[in-house]
Amino acid sequence: MRDFESPFFIGVDIGRTIRAALVDERGRVWLQSRVLAERRDPRAFLRQVIAVLCALRDAEMARGRVAAIGIGWPGLIGQQTPRIALASHLVDVTECDVYGEIREALGVPLVFENEANAAAYGEWACGAAQGLHDVFYVTIGTGIGAALILGGRLQRGAHGFAGEFGHVKVESGGIECGCGGRGCLETIASGPNIVRRVRERLFSDPTFSLSPLAVQMEGTLSVPQIVQAALDGDELARAVLRETGRYFGLAIANVLNLLDVEMVCLGGPVMLAGEILLDAVRKEARKHTLRMIFEGCRFAIGALGQDAGIIGAALLARDAVAAMASP
Ligand SMILES: [Zn+2]
Repeated sequence: MRDFESPFFIGVDIGRTIRAALVDERGRVWLQSRVLAERRDPRAFLRQVIAVLCALRDAEMARGRVAAIGIGWPGLIGQQTPRIALASHLVDVTECDVYGEIREALGVPLVFENEANAAAYGEWACGAAQGLHDVFYVTIGTGIGAALILGGRLQRGAHGFAGEFGHVKVESGGIECGCGGRGCLETIASGPNIVRRVRERLFSDPTFSLSPLAVQMEGTLSVPQIVQAALDGDELARAVLRETGRYFGLAIANVLNLLDVEMVCLGGPVMLAGEILLDAVRKEARKHTLRMIFEGCRFAIGALGQDAGIIGAALLARDAVAAMASP
């Protein structure tokens, strides 16, 4: 039961699917909606987002009680003037006044946040990292993002762009990244690149020809299929996920040596792979991290699953409203 006077917040997670929910002030999800994102027309995409938000605001249980909206968006989100500086993997909305149009259509305070920051905030406020002060959060999906919580505060950097972990260099050379650089973690270990590496192995190594994954090659090989094959004991899938974990472990070790955090929390759809990936990350990180630092750090999979971004965005909106109210 909830108090009929208490406010709701709408949390939104923008990706290939637009996911949104009514969330209460304790981070509990009450009503969810999702729609496949329009990927060609930025105007149509923006209309979709506004329609999803209006439907939740006008839902029977929420009527008159939505206090603020938080939106987690992939890409670089400037903090001074909320503007989407780079939206990767999605329709390009850099020419649209996304903030202004949503604000005007909904008429409640609006907070934009990088999607990894939003998910980290969710895990920190009411998930796996609850109660901790120093956390490094990594999300692994279509892209790779990260967030830093240090001294109990989300750290955004001087311009709001901190945490671009996908562009940490883990190889000299390597294939070209969307950022224009080479050797970025994302070019090896993001969801689409895990799929690419599985495909390349299937082509190059005949000993894997009997892999169940080979049968699926004709269709659309996806990360969930690879993860499922790995969980079912498929050696190729397991080898690629372990190798992925080693790249993450190396990159994370550099962060640990620099920041000495209490927890590394891993989330995002690729973490459905669970222990297979986590174990490889932990083992590789141990090799490259100073012992005292490694021993003081826990490795965990996010507890909120796919809802981390929605809950975190809503709670960022909650806390922004509270900060506005206090003198
Ligand atoms: Zn890059």
